[in-house]
Amino acid sequence: MTEITSSSAAVLAGLISSKQVSSVEITTAFLDRLEKLNPKTNSYLYFNRENSLAQAKKADQQLADGTAVSPLHGVPIAVKDNLTTTDAPTTAGSKILEGWVPQYDATVVRKLREASMPILGKTNLDEFAMGSSTEFSAYGPSKNPWDLTRIPGGSGGGSSSAIAGHLAPLAIGSDTGGSIRFPAAMTGSVGAKPTYGAVSRYGLIALASSLDQIGPVTNSVMDAAMLQDVIAGHDPHDSTSLPDSLGSMVQSVKEADVKGLRVGVIRQLSSDGFQPGVKACFDDTIEKLAAAGAEIIEVDCPSFEYAVAAYYLILPAEASSNLAKFDSVRFGLRVTPEGNPTIEDVMAATREQGFGPEVKRRIILGTYALSSGYYDAYYGSAQKVRTLIQQDLAKAFTQADVLLTPTAPTTAFKIGEKVDDPLAMYLNDVATIPANLAGIPGISVPNGLASEDGLPSGVQILAPAMQDGQMYRVASIVEKLYTDQWGASLIARVPDLEAL
Ligand code: GLN
Repeated sequence: MTEITSSSAAVLAGLISSKQVSSVEITTAFLDRLEKLNPKTNSYLYFNRENSLAQAKKADQQLADGTAVSPLHGVPIAVKDNLTTTDAPTTAGSKILEGWVPQYDATVVRKLREASMPILGKTNLDEFAMGSSTEFSAYGPSKNPWDLTRIPGGSGGGSSSAIAGHLAPLAIGSDTGGSIRFPAAMTGSVGAKPTYGAVSRYGLIALASSLDQIGPVTNSVMDAAMLQDVIAGHDPHDSTSLPDSLGSMVQSVKEADVKGLRVGVIRQLSSDGFQPGVKACFDDTIEKLAAAGAEIIEVDCPSFEYAVAAYYLILPAEASSNLAKFDSVRFGLRVTPEGNPTIEDVMAATREQGFGPEVKRRIILGTYALSSGYYDAYYGSAQKVRTLIQQDLAKAFTQADVLLTPTAPTTAFKIGEKVDDPLAMYLNDVATIPANLAGIPGISVPNGLASEDGLPSGVQILAPAMQDGQMYRVASIVEKLYTDQWGASLIARVPDLEAL
């Protein structure tokens, strides 16, 4: 690993703006590394050296002309392959979209281009972001740089493995039930899901529109804050996007102070069902926060017991509707059966061949849950649970400023271990789902290695809606608990991929 590829995005941005290292040099270093190591991790589904370097060259030219504007000017980035890009195919991890090149850039992609951040490539994901391991990607699983026989989390395992393996200094993820935070925990990275609507979803291939949110995957809290500041903001193309009123996340990180902080520990997410080493890391974080002066308060969220069940009705219901547009007429794949097929035959054959098993499972489940006669019993009840979860959280936030949970029940599991057991796979999301159902921000920060397997653990910090700054402030406090006086992480580093 070169000094460039092991540096944080904040450091790289400083090197570029002070003209010590060019964007072309930095982008080249990452391209060299990813071309060599992507065959090991399968983090990227697509990259194109010439295109990335042309963007880097333009960034260097702007710097020379004095027209650079963004704090991350010239820093390259990886983008999850469910965001549309006009200069690269967008597959959402599905065969049904193979080879499709969109006609427009997602708003987030446009903002990255306007910030002159060269795009390194498109990262792997579970098909249409359905999954927790990338094993449902039609293009094969990504591998965890800590142990290539293990999953890097999902759905955004391409982005998390690229960050942990230093195949990109920054990455974009999307989080519908945990797909930014869970992969971050599995790989010892930082992953933030902003408040619903803080980042425009225009050009994100929708999974469940009322839950989806785009956010940063990085190696540090400051890098995530810098990236959120670039991608957030109101967008007239997304009617659910919030007005520009969340402030600067970078400023919040700088203001981090534990004095007077009330930290809530959710009773329902702090005991049963967590791997002992993960639980030990969580308890250690809480003890360290208390020792640093935070007040620790136990809070109750009884309705969390039903969160996974409610999510796996609401998500398939919305997904079955969102995925109806993949019908062979408008995008990607078309399969024409022999004989004299009708349009319905073509659609059915295309969807049969183009969608993988998890996508089909959810389309069938969602269609059933929305069907007349069952709607109230399933979808209606799930929406009521959603309201109860929001009420539990609102009450908890009157007692505490932020809520902490372990991000995931276990460390990274083996590829193949859960892929044939949908329920086991769904339970990975038990701690991350409530934030999506309530629209609140959540971030996962590394908090040590589990003693039984030496793999990374993550702690999740939840804040009230629109208080992303508060979330980053506390994330930075937590990160400092695991950082020495010279700013180096006290958590052992990922083994170098080149040696694996
Ligand atoms: N693992 C969750 C699911 O399968 C999360 C997905 C996501 O956040 N995109 O639905």
